[in-house]
Amino acid sequence: MEFKFATKCVYGNKEKLEGEPTGAISFPIYQTATYAHPEVGKSTGFDYSRLQNPTRQQLEKVVAALEKGIDALAFSSGMAAITALMEIFKPGDHLITDADLYGGSIRLFNHINEKNGITFSHINCSRDDVESYVRENTRAIYIETPTNPMMSVVDIRKMADIAKRHQLLLIVDNTFLSPYFQNPLELGADIVVHSGTKFLGGHNDTLSGFLVTNSQEISDKLRFIIKTVGSGLAPMDSWLILRGIKTLPLRMEKAQENAKAIVEYLISEPKVTKVYYPGIEGSDGYEVCKSQARGFGSMITFEVENKYLAQHILKHTKLIPFAESLGGVETLLTYPCTQTHADVPEEVRIANGITESVLRMSVGIEDKEDLITDLKEAIDSYDGYRGLYI
Ligand SMILES: *Cc1c(COP(=O)(O)O)cnc(C)c1O
Repeated sequence: MEFKFATKCVYGNKEKLEGEPTGAISFPIYQTATYAHPEVGKSTGFDYSRLQNPTRQQLEKVVAALEKGIDALAFSSGMAAITALMEIFKPGDHLITDADLYGGSIRLFNHINEKNGITFSHINCSRDDVESYVRENTRAIYIETPTNPMMSVVDIRKMADIAKRHQLLLIVDNTFLSPYFQNPLELGADIVVHSGTKFLGGHNDTLSGFLVTNSQEISDKLRFIIKTVGSGLAPMDSWLILRGIKTLPLRMEKAQENAKAIVEYLISEPKVTKVYYPGIEGSDGYEVCKSQARGFGSMITFEVENKYLAQHILKHTKLIPFAESLGGVETLLTYPCTQTHADVPEEVRIANGITESVLRMSVGIEDKEDLITDLKEAIDSYDGYRGLYI
């Protein structure tokens, strides 16, 4: 029997308790670095926790099931996952990437991977003619959708068509919608990336990252890399993410419901000049997002009248913290230009619309009226002061 999504979140797959002699309902934390071999040439399937650990393996099975892949690998952070992924490329390879990505991914590409001989074309994959950037040495297209922080929607099927025509890998960072709302492998992607720190873990308490694939060849390559570079997720952290995933559907629904109410408030607020959320009917990404995802998520980016108001809001909300990260039960506000996207070259940042008047909000599962009141009071308390607040 193939379980439905919410059941998989709670139980993983049906192999969950196989071989678990105590019948523990919560999968145990195997806090061990190494494993005894029965005899020479025989193994229990576990040798050393850099290679495999039962708690990590259970988590990997759950995430593979949620993303409909044949294999998932759990890393110590999202960046550890992307760093390991980049090891499948070699000097001379070229990648097409969206210019509006998580800032840490752009920093990795520009400062580490380029130094090692990989080149990139950072383009706008929702607007530009992506195919015209394909070169003889192009190996992959790397996207996020919706993008961070500008919430542009990239057409995954369209990217998959281009990738297939030119034998490129399509890599999709699915952190923002999580597998609850979007499954890129089903739409033609080859590798899905997650920062499990965000919605999968969901509690702003544990870092983790994932790579999921439906290709045995890619899985073999990634398994070789994870055991060699040693960035696999620790047992305790694997357990925390397993626990977080159990409530993923409930959290995603509640956070989205809150986000929709906040978007409505922001649209009606005169001091808010733009709201970027793919669920706004008639907005640029609405139709494509609807065609490839089951929801619009709970990430909102908005622009206010000027940078002084933006900084005032960050200082004057009483409930919502000014903090990086996203996808947790706590609503967070961040300032992309000095935080998540500080390392993106200024001209690229501005060209992407990430100005000093732009705020990004990750909506959590609190009471939506409290969240709206908090935002409104912070905005209303702005008296036009133009000093630097932070
Ligand atoms: C946070 C994030 C990452 C990096 O993940 P970490 O767990 O912080 O290392 C990558 N991609 C996206 C879209 C993210 O939001």
